Amino acid sequence: MNRLIFIPFDQLNVNHGALKSADRETDVIVLIESQRMILGRTWHKQRLQFLLSCARHFAAELRSNDWNVEYLRSDNTASGLKEISEKYPDREIFCATPNSFRMRQQLAEIGVNFVENDFFLTSQELFTIWADTQKTFTMENFYRAQRKRLGILMSGTTPIGGEWNYDAENRLPPKKDQDWGTTISFDSDLIDQEVMAELPDTAWGNFETKIWGTTRAEALAQMEHFFQNHFKEFGPFEDAMPASSWTGHHSLLSPYLNNGLLHPSEVVSAAIQRFEQGDIPLASCEGFIRQIIGWREYINGMYWFLGEDYREGNGLGANRKLLPLFQNSKKTEMSCVKSLVQDVEDYGWTHHIPRLMVLSNLALITGVKPQEFLDWMREVFIDAADWVMVPNVIGMATHADGGTLMTKPYAAGGAYISKMGQFCKNCKYDPKLRTGETACPFTTLYWDFLDRNAQMFSKNHRMFQQMGGLRKLSNIEEVKSRAQQVLNGLDQGLI
Ligand SMILES: Cc1cc2nc3c(=O)[nH]c(=O)nc-3n(C[C@H](O)[C@H](O)[C@H](O)COP(=O)(O)OP(=O)(O)OC[C@H]3O[C@@H](n4cnc5c(N)ncnc54)[C@H](O)[C@@H]3O)c2cc1C
Repeated sequence: MNRLIFIPFDQLNVNHGALKSADRETDVIVLIESQRMILGRTWHKQRLQFLLSCARHFAAELRSNDWNVEYLRSDNTASGLKEISEKYPDREIFCATPNSFRMRQQLAEIGVNFVENDFFLTSQELFTIWADTQKTFTMENFYRAQRKRLGILMSGTTPIGGEWNYDAENRLPPKKDQDWGTTISFDSDLIDQEVMAELPDTAWGNFETKIWGTTRAEALAQMEHFFQNHFKEFGPFEDAMPASSWTGHHSLLSPYLNNGLLHPSEVVSAAIQRFEQGDIPLASCEGFIRQIIGWREYINGMYWFLGEDYREGNGLGANRKLLPLFQNSKKTEMSCVKSLVQDVEDYGWTHHIPRLMVLSNLALITGVKPQEFLDWMREVFIDAADWVMVPNVIGMATHADGGTLMTKPYAAGGAYISKMGQFCKNCKYDPKLRTGETACPFTTLYWDFLDRNAQMFSKNHRMFQQMGGLRKLSNIEEVKSRAQQVLNGLDQGLI
């Protein structure tokens, strides 16, 4: 049967998805640039450039390998598919099951046939079997089941090294004058330049050099760079927030994993191979493997398991508008937030601790509406996708699901940021102070957040210690009054 094979921009892989079983002789491969997608939101320049340039490069590579490719620009995906169906009226359209609720529904409505989506290591059926047997959805339990099922870092039924998890050895703060190694950048070719020139004026952020690769070869180069230069120290410094490096020892692989240029199985195999050379500590290897076969798969599994309405949660009734500082780093004097929002402006990326413990923490304790914060993160992060942003933001970061994913909110005062980051020394605010003009806004707002939600958190046994701390505060009225000043200042972009 001659078919039209539709490749969404997050399935760019010849060995997986619908291309796995496609026939070069008879099938036509279809990619569509949707104007609704491009103009529908205020995307980061780097993100839009990355998505479009990767797709155009992928189409060019397919063509050079003798595939018959139709690359369309259309108002939206549905109109593009209609146009291509009119050109090839006797062909049905096939696509690997899409990665988001919206795209799945949209394509189903126009009669697209779905084939297996094998871009993850865990099928939805398998994940549901696991989730259905759980009282709480603890990632660590899922991760251990994954290690056993996939036989990764296992010796029979026991984990290599005797422990499942080496977090106790990891979680180190950054050291003074630490060497954070190098990052790589790539040369822009004609396709990259063409995409850059076409970016809409509405696009946000900066684009100085091409730090995100746009071809499979560049994605592989990034992976190689990580395994050679950063893997060894990945584990211990996974949570560290250095001031002198925007990457730390992180892999920067998420964009390629999420658009299909890399497959999780090849990243895991490469990690194990590199570990077997003998100079990589088990804590680093295990920590990295956990991110891929644990966190990434768990988040994807939960996205589908929790359903489409999950994104609407607002368990803490948070309704503040997005703070101006998220869109403009000049709108804050907090050194950590300014520096990290600058990283987002420049690279469309920060690692998981700035995302969780600084940016999201601020949204959580100021009470920004979770959906507004979700929209912002979707637009400005290079690796954003619906399946990964929704559980991370609604569940993990803002506790908007009332505790389905995480039993307690990831709220923290300035002490955590001061311990794990190098920003406080040059900041006008003091993480140790709760009140007064120079009190760290995180510290003030942390206690105010606990107080505002005291009724709900008192019922949560995992919040026992924090609520005990709140009860012992002698100056809570003063803290609340300072918190009001801070919130007003943040709303005006003055703090
Ligand atoms: C609020 C919030 C929003 C996030 N949004 C995204 C997002 O839109 N896209 C995205 O890919 N990741 C997201 N993450 C997870 C994580 O921050 C990024 O995957 C990571 O920072 C990407 O950088 P890296 O490739 O260097 O990751 P590394 O630290 O080197 O980790 C390796 C890989 O593990 C995977 N991973 C680790 N943690 C997670 C997680 N929580 N969820 C899914 N995958 C994970 C990623 O694929 C990542 O590439 C989010 C985390 C938080 C707290």
